Amino acid sequence: MRIITAIAEMQAVAREFRSSGTLGLVPTMGALHSGHLSLIDAAKRDCAHVVASIFVNPLQFGPNEDFSRYPRTFDADCAALTSAGIDVLFAPSAETLTPAGATTFVEVAGISDRLDGASRPGHFRGVATIVAKLFHIVAPHRAYFGQKDAAQLAVLRAMVRDLNFSVEIVACPIVREPDGLALSSRNRYLAPEQRSRATILRGALDAAADLHARGERSSHALTATMRGVFAAEPSVIVEYAAVVDPGTLLPLADTTGGALIAVAAHLGETRLIDNHLIGADHA
Ligand code: AMP
Repeated sequence: MRIITAIAEMQAVAREFRSSGTLGLVPTMGALHSGHLSLIDAAKRDCAHVVASIFVNPLQFGPNEDFSRYPRTFDADCAALTSAGIDVLFAPSAETLTPAGATTFVEVAGISDRLDGASRPGHFRGVATIVAKLFHIVAPHRAYFGQKDAAQLAVLRAMVRDLNFSVEIVACPIVREPDGLALSSRNRYLAPEQRSRATILRGALDAAADLHARGERSSHALTATMRGVFAAEPSVIVEYAAVVDPGTLLPLADTTGGALIAVAAHLGETRLIDNHLIGADHA
């Protein structure tokens, strides 16, 4: 695996790759786990060449968020990516990708203020700006993202549509621990007692999905069920428990046409998210 840190070199190598087959890109912030590696596997199945990126994006962290303590495990990440068999790791420095004086940002209006964007102002502007830069530098045919970050997917799909990027966004299923907790680089922040309570996010989603499977279509009823599950664990602070359109992230009154049910909750200092997609009736 070749490690590239310079933009011009990445552009040249990506150009070569594109001329000889499908090029896939897997953007990450490192601290890799099996969720990230599932994106790499999907990219490897589809594409002749795979580039992964590691960049802890300063633009997507708020002033009181965990940028400085975000886990950085570069050597272990390189070992995992080497055994996964990718062609190139693009790992630019912050100075390279976000140079002082840059004044251009990508703002996906509306969607960026919903779900996670509501409590993390500027977060999706930071995500969209850096992913747009990665798309320009690598110009992949396909880019792989996790369904785990459902709001991020909606923002990036809107960006690709609105700015005419010729990249196909591929969404990959959520990879979970055996007890249902969605894998996340932030799970390592959890103290043991928080870790055992963290399954409540999946529990709330399961309760709502079960209710839907039994015929309930009212978003209000599904939301109340999720809130009821969370109420049993007052130390877990719910940020949102929502039933929304997966494309626009706007609230839905009912789930007949399909829906994204999504939760965010705080366990101490650690913020976790999870979601579940409900298909349209008769889809
Ligand atoms: P991150 O390093 O957290 O920015 O994540 C990089 C990519 O991995 C994003 O597209 C995430 O949605 C995806 N990802 C993170 N956790 C999971 C998971 N548990 N299952 C599937 N994809 C994931």
